[in-house]
Amino acid sequence: METSSVFVALVGRPNVGKSSLTNRLVGEKVAIVTSKPQTTRTRITGIVTKGPVQFVLLDTPGVHIPRTKLGERMSKAASDSVADVDVSMMLFEPYGAFTDAETAMIEALKKSGAPAIAVINKTDTLKKEKDLEVRKQELEDLGVFKGVYATSVREDKGCEELFAVLEQYGQPGPHFFPEDAYTDLPEKALVSEIIREKMLLNLYDEIPHGIAVTVERFKERADKNIIDIDVNIYCERKSHKGMVIGKGGQMLKKIASQARLDCEDFLGTKVNLQCWVKVKDDWRDSDFLLNDFGFRQTN
Ligand code: GDP
Repeated sequence: METSSVFVALVGRPNVGKSSLTNRLVGEKVAIVTSKPQTTRTRITGIVTKGPVQFVLLDTPGVHIPRTKLGERMSKAASDSVADVDVSMMLFEPYGAFTDAETAMIEALKKSGAPAIAVINKTDTLKKEKDLEVRKQELEDLGVFKGVYATSVREDKGCEELFAVLEQYGQPGPHFFPEDAYTDLPEKALVSEIIREKMLLNLYDEIPHGIAVTVERFKERADKNIIDIDVNIYCERKSHKGMVIGKGGQMLKKIASQARLDCEDFLGTKVNLQCWVKVKDDWRDSDFLLNDFGFRQTN
């Protein structure tokens, strides 16, 4: 049986139903993918394997993050993202004028020349059946989409059918992920996974498995292209803490700056990473904080 993969960028304005559709297509699984972090500006939101075909759903930072609203930049970010995928699936509301963000995305799709389809979601809110035809026509007239489809995630209509549509854009070859891989936007889990990976990489076997990483804060600044991430690294012993921090903080600095770069790649945005190293069960132990690794230097 020849296998194939389809990388799908799911785009559209906020609240159009991207997460809902992803959940519907992926099946609302709760486990996470903890494989290597992505190295592009996109992030994987779901993986579905159906027989020989693996669907990899991606989120693009270009269209719905306010920081990229400014025309040129946004359309650049968006076209960068759509250039890497096999097909883009752009979701639309059944009614209303296109927003600036939507127009920029449509332009980006047009410019990239990459295959794209349109999906009108929330068909359960249609007032008249004829309205759907009007919207379909409007989208077809843009001359950007290879097909216009309709779904209601709420009523589970038209969703399953998308697989057959997307499959047509697949590329033959081995699957990139295990059959049972899926994801539900596990950003926090991935951040701690990245930090653990960097510790293993830099500390080799010196530090035993007793280290825990927790993400205490993961917050996107409303007005800026930055995510603030606070992480606690818990060690079992004070001596381990010393090794994690290293002489003059050098080891922690190295781990954190490598982790920050991976986080930025994965999240497609600047990251302000703060790492606190603590000894488990010793809450009075004074914390060691390295603030803003590398971040202020680049700004
Ligand atoms: P996203 O911001 O594009 O990811 O949108 P969400 O998936 O978070 O959905 C935004 C809102 O629209 C939520 O309240 C959903 O329940 C709702 N929604 C999603 N799909 C449908 C649909 O097919 N019909 C209706 N009526 N509401 C929907």
